[in-house]
Amino acid sequence: MSFESFSLDRRILAGVTACGYETPTPIQTQAIPPVLQGRDVLGLAQTGTGKTAAFALPILQHLVNVDASRRGPVRALVLAPTRELALQIQETFVSLGKQTGFRSTSVFGGVGIVPQIKSLRASSIAVACPGRLLDLINRGECDLSQVDVLVLDEADRMFDMGFLPDLRRILARLPVKRQNLMFSATMPSEIRALAGEVLNDPITLQV
Ligand code: AMP
Repeated sequence: MSFESFSLDRRILAGVTACGYETPTPIQTQAIPPVLQGRDVLGLAQTGTGKTAAFALPILQHLVNVDASRRGPVRALVLAPTRELALQIQETFVSLGKQTGFRSTSVFGGVGIVPQIKSLRASSIAVACPGRLLDLINRGECDLSQVDVLVLDEADRMFDMGFLPDLRRILARLPVKRQNLMFSATMPSEIRALAGEVLNDPITLQV
């Protein structure tokens, strides 16, 4: 299996090469084809398995396919439990997507909100912690009406940190017709229930 076999845009493959990835990891091999087809996916995967690129590469390909504007609005929304994880995910989008021209931003609390508002307006990809994103939504500073891909990353940790009510309020603001991807290291009953609510006819993957 090679990255070339996924029929990704050559600019995205250039990002893969620049990152030094030679062979797809098991979660990438399993997840990239169905995500490229537009399917909802539930991935049981820990950090360190390469799950970030497993969703970042098909999202970048989707933005290329629909010829999304390079100046926003947000078309792909990734929700993550912590600032560290949000920054790490955004860096992956930056590295893999460098040659595509799509901009990404990260949104989290504890820092000034004004720069985040500005960069959110100009981004196609937003990686956000739920609390700050909800704050931006409530201030009317976040247009999510064009989101067509949603990722819930480390869903079990978001649940543990008490983000489920915020998550539900954010979900209510998203277009109904969208692709949903959910990743979790564990599958307690609450996460299984959330998956049942959010995902449509998902493919379940485990690595
Ligand atoms: P993640 O599980 O997404 O946090 O990724 C863990 C680490 O693996 C990160 O440092 C990635 O840059 C790296 N990585 C992801 N995919 C590959 C790959 N196909 N080959 C080599 N390294 C990778």
